[in-house]
Amino acid sequence: MNNKPTIAVIGAGLGGAAAGALLQQAGYPTKVYEQAPAFARLGAGIHLGPNVMKVMRRIGIEEKLNAMGSHPDYWFSRNGMTGEYQSRIPLGEFARENYGAAYITVHRGDLHELMVSTLDQDNLHFDKRLVDVDDSGDKVVMTFADGSIEEADLVIGADGVNSRLREKLLGPEAPIYSGWVAHRAIISAEKLKAYDLDFEACVKWWSEDRHMMVYFVTGDEKEYYYVTGVPEPDWNHGTSFVDSSREEMRKAFEGYHPTVQALIDCTESVTKWPLLERNPLPLWHENRLVLLGDACHPMKPHMAQGAAMAIEDAAMLVRCLEEVGAENYQQAFELYRTNRFERASRVQQVSHDNTWLREDEDPAWVFAYDPFEVPLKQPTSQ
Ligand code: FAD
Repeated sequence: MNNKPTIAVIGAGLGGAAAGALLQQAGYPTKVYEQAPAFARLGAGIHLGPNVMKVMRRIGIEEKLNAMGSHPDYWFSRNGMTGEYQSRIPLGEFARENYGAAYITVHRGDLHELMVSTLDQDNLHFDKRLVDVDDSGDKVVMTFADGSIEEADLVIGADGVNSRLREKLLGPEAPIYSGWVAHRAIISAEKLKAYDLDFEACVKWWSEDRHMMVYFVTGDEKEYYYVTGVPEPDWNHGTSFVDSSREEMRKAFEGYHPTVQALIDCTESVTKWPLLERNPLPLWHENRLVLLGDACHPMKPHMAQGAAMAIEDAAMLVRCLEEVGAENYQQAFELYRTNRFERASRVQQVSHDNTWLREDEDPAWVFAYDPFEVPLKQPTSQ
């Protein structure tokens, strides 16, 4: 292996794109393989906390994101029925001063497009679904669904909740359906002008067993977005999402505050997604293969930190390769796991419990984290 090994990243989702960009920036000959033929601007938003924005700074797109996104001054939690405030978590200037970067909300498609644009386009390969890997020699041999075969010194599985790489390491096991679904809809803010109601920049409406998280996904506040968490005992659709309807939303949020009813009235189309989880994995890497993001710790999205954990993983993985020297890749992978397992597992648990920011609490342990600066813990068993 030369000084910088060749690296294949499987999956160009948010974690894979971050890994690819940071590896290429650090001088690793990196190829990214994505199963999709292209990406579409699906109707969804995403929170990017200061912890993620610090990684975006390294990738070189922080300013573009700041210009693109909405900058809420607070995360509000409100009683879904009465509207009473349960928490007011300061973001805005407070986040910039205390956590080291902005807290923004953006359109997921816009974010993804921007992240993918930072990759070396000659080494980004669409329509490449990994079907098998052979890690028994000096190189990893990858086989793709189109019959092509590629090699790399190291392979990163950033291939999401149904990761083929995870399956290779740990055997086939379907993710756990959490018993909850998420509805997602984008609403034109223009329509909301008809209501004498306040549509806040970032607010989560809660009741005992369900919620609706609402925020703008563009800096010009033209697109407003909601994502829910609603119990549904079974998911038998066999697809990653299905269409929902205004009627279904009305039923799910019956009795909720007039602001929520207005959002449902303004909904033109809404989709419904099963929320999938896994218990913390016993293995994150083996020999020349390593996992990140949803491939190793998928979670309910109720903390809005799933992609954040994938992106932090990518940053920590590259840091550990640089720290130890990539020729000692097994040591680097173990250093990476040691420094990510506890945090990712804790975020998985809080997301599962759905307690995050429901009442006033200090979010610094999540937002102030910087994967490039946090002191590294050494593995105990090496
Ligand atoms: P993915 O984004 O799933 O990317 C995996 C990629 O790998 C995909 O592009 C896929 O096509 C590709 N792939 C899969 N298999 C193969 C293969 N065999 N060969 C090649 N390519 C392959 N997170 C946040 O941080 N903030 C939020 O506000 C937020 N909101 C959410 C709302 C909902 C309703 C849901 C469901 C999730 C939300 N998340 C949020 C979580 C977030 O979407 C995921 O945690 C994140 O996308 C994980 O990134 P990833 O790169 O690990 O996986």
